[in-house]
Order: sequence, then structure tokens, then C-alpha cells
Amino acid sequence: MTPESALSSLIPADLPQRRQLVTPIPGPRSAELAARRATSVAAGVSSSLPVYVERAGGGVIQDVDGNSFIDLGAGIAVTSVGNAAPAVVAAVARQAQDFTHTCFMVGPYEEYIAVCEQLARLTPGTHAKRSVLVNSGAEAVENAVKIARSATGRPAVVVFDHAYHGRTNLTMAMTAKAMPYKSGFGPFAGEVYRAPVSYPLREAAPITGEQAAARTISMIEKQIGADQVAAVVIEPILGEGGFIVPARGFLPALSAWCTANGVVFVADEIQTGFARTGTMFACEDEGVVPDLITLAKGIGGGLPLAAVTGRADLMDAVHTGGLGGTFGGNPVACAAALATFEAYESADLAGAARAIEAQVVPRLRSIAERAPQIAEVRGRGAMIAIELVRPGTLEPDAAEAGRVARECAAQGVLVLTCGTYGNVIRLLPPLVIPPELLDDALDVLESALMSVVR
Ligand SMILES: *Cc1c(COP(=O)(O)O)cnc(C)c1O
Repeated sequence: MTPESALSSLIPADLPQRRQLVTPIPGPRSAELAARRATSVAAGVSSSLPVYVERAGGGVIQDVDGNSFIDLGAGIAVTSVGNAAPAVVAAVARQAQDFTHTCFMVGPYEEYIAVCEQLARLTPGTHAKRSVLVNSGAEAVENAVKIARSATGRPAVVVFDHAYHGRTNLTMAMTAKAMPYKSGFGPFAGEVYRAPVSYPLREAAPITGEQAAARTISMIEKQIGADQVAAVVIEPILGEGGFIVPARGFLPALSAWCTANGVVFVADEIQTGFARTGTMFACEDEGVVPDLITLAKGIGGGLPLAAVTGRADLMDAVHTGGLGGTFGGNPVACAAALATFEAYESADLAGAARAIEAQVVPRLRSIAERAPQIAEVRGRGAMIAIELVRPGTLEPDAAEAGRVARECAAQGVLVLTCGTYGNVIRLLPPLVIPPELLDDALDVLESALMSVVR
């Protein structure tokens, strides 16, 4: 199979790849479900789209009223191989027939081992590696911290401004943004220290990546002490914080400092991982080889699975029985992951991500020239952001980002927002999205952006 036919085989054949609205948004069945939800689902859980999903695949989400939306969110960078990709569906069905769960800590099975073998092969670096499989990104980050502390015997964990690492107690402490992730949920875990990151758009004066790393390192050495630090945990492109791309040189300098000081360098590639940024992992762009890497989101074609993969000497420092969990590495999720890995490679989805960048970024840059509200278009591969501000300033405009997202939804295009200041539109299309469909979505996004420019 050529990469092109491998790619089109990931789209369900009977789901038309087009945008089509046949009712007002939300339609009557979605409105009914919203009413049921209000009396059964906790109010703390929110949703971006005002409609309820019936089917999804390729670049399309179909709602319960028959409306078809173009998906520029991929369930937050999860369904990179497409939703309900036929190869993943078949692998899930086969495995579910055989057995759905034994618990790897009770009755182990081959699929878990095969996923760990593939993760060792796919992740950066040719050194000996081990993996542990868990259920969610937050749980992967928690385990990376456990492993780093156990291996180093040190307490401190360094994280960054604008970081997002999850919603559990430890990962809330590691996440930067108070509202909605942390407010009212403390007290938080201790020994978590926040350092400055490189955010080129918002530096007081232009500085290089190396200079930004020196600023971070000085803070760590003076305020924590290098010999107290178990791990530095960083997203190579900061996701929820606003798709912030650190200046070139920042990550390599930080990683080199970690190596020189016996600090475990953890790349949180939960959002950037698996072909999303045009390479299998975002670290590869600057040749950074992390000691540990946390993985989730795009790992299993939509099934819940997460992992920590890393240096065998660090991973194996933990005592027997110290890592695990009832559902971790569930066999159905592992079968989905194996089919998903195969899809990334056979359909060259990293190449597809680079093609998406080439299609989207020049177009957005040309819109930015006409729209003074757009401070910056940035990102890599199919992880692309538009940061909105009050014209002539760097003052974030979250209200405008919200208006653009709502206007897109009303016209049948799902876009998400993000950012510490809530003022960033982020595009995370499934990597299998047909180019014509993506063009149609960009037309809608352009008119939404231009209509709020006024
Ligand atoms: C989403 C995300 C997490 C948390 O993953 P969950 O599966 O939601 O727990 C952690 N780190 C990063 C970078 C993420 O994008």
C-alpha cells in the first residue's frame, strides 16, 4: 500500500467528508440531550461544542441531528489517525473478543509487551529503554515524577510558566493556570517549583533560546539547588498554555544542563507526541533525547492509554510492585495502540502533519497581515495557534478568541481555544483530514476572524 492509500484507508468509507448543517445549531435532539445532561452530569464538566456526537471519522464529526462538522480538534490531539479508523476498530473488536481485561499485574499478556517494544523503537534515542503503561496523561506525569524521585533520591520537580500537566493533585501543582484547573482544589503537592520558560512573543526584550535557558538555570540553581532537583518536566511545545514554541536552543541547553547535573529531563509529549508536530516526537526537531518521555493522547486512536518510556537504568530503579494500576495497559487499548502505531508509519502521518502546516500557516499569516488582532501565528506541523490581542498592544483578548470559536461552531467548524490568557485559537486537525475539507474549514475560520476584526 502507498502512503496515500494507507492514509485514505483510515477514513470510514461510508462517512461523507463534508461540512453540512441541516438544523439550527444546536438541533432538537442535541437540545434534548443538553436538558438531560443538566440533571445528570456534574456542572464542573464542560464541553466546547453545543451538539452531541453520533459518529466521527476522517475530518468529520456528525451530530445526533445529522449535522456534519469539520473537526479541527481531534478530541484534543487524540484521534490523529482519524476517529474510528477502520484498522483500529478491527484491532479493538478482535481483542475484545479474546479478552477485555485480566490486569497486567495479575495475568500478563503479549500486547502490553508489544506496545512497550514499539515505544522503545519509536521514541528518541537508541539507548536501552523500558516503559510502564497507565490510563491517562496525568497518571503518566505522576509516574514520571515517582520514577525520577526514586532513581535520584531527590525531592524537587521543576516545571514552567504556562505549563499544563493534568488535573490530579500532583499534576495540578505542576500546571500553571489557576482557573479552571486549580482554583479551590488545594492544598497542592509540595516540592514543585515553577521556572520561566521561553515565550518569544512575550519577552520584554528579544532573547535567544540559550539566554532564556540561562535565566531558567540560574533560577533553579539559586532558588532550589541543582542537587535537590529530581526532574525538570517540560512540554517541548507548551500545549494548553497557548502552543508556545520556545526559542531554538532553549530545550537543548536545558537538557544538557540536566545531564551535567544528574537531573532527569522529562519531555511531556502528551499533546505534541505521535507525528503531531511533523516528526514522531517534538523533541526530535532539535535533536533532544529526553531521559523520560510521557505519552498519552495520540497513542491509541482514541482509546485511553498512556505511558512513561525512558532510560532503562532510571525506569528499573523503582522497586518491584512500585508501578502499576488496575487498568493500566488494558489489552483492548494496547491492541488499538499497536494498530495506531502501524498507521502512523504506513500512512506517513508525520509527513501529513507537515503538509497540513504548509497548507494552513501561509494562509493564516496572510490573514494576520489584514487583521491587527492577530499578534502571532505559530506552531509546528498540525499543532498551529493564532494568538489574539487588542490591536497595537500585546494585551490578550480572550473574548475575541471565544467569539471566533463560537462563530466557527455555528458555521460547522470545531476549533478549540487555549492559552494562559484564553486568547489563543488552536488548530489540531486529525492528520488524515482531506485537504479540500481543511480548505473549507479555513474559509470559515477566515470569515470568523475577519468578522470579529470589524
Ligand atoms: C492533556 C495533557 C496532559 C493530561 O492528560 P490527561 O489524559 O488529560 O490526564 C498532560 N500533559 C499535557 C502536555 C497534556 O496536553
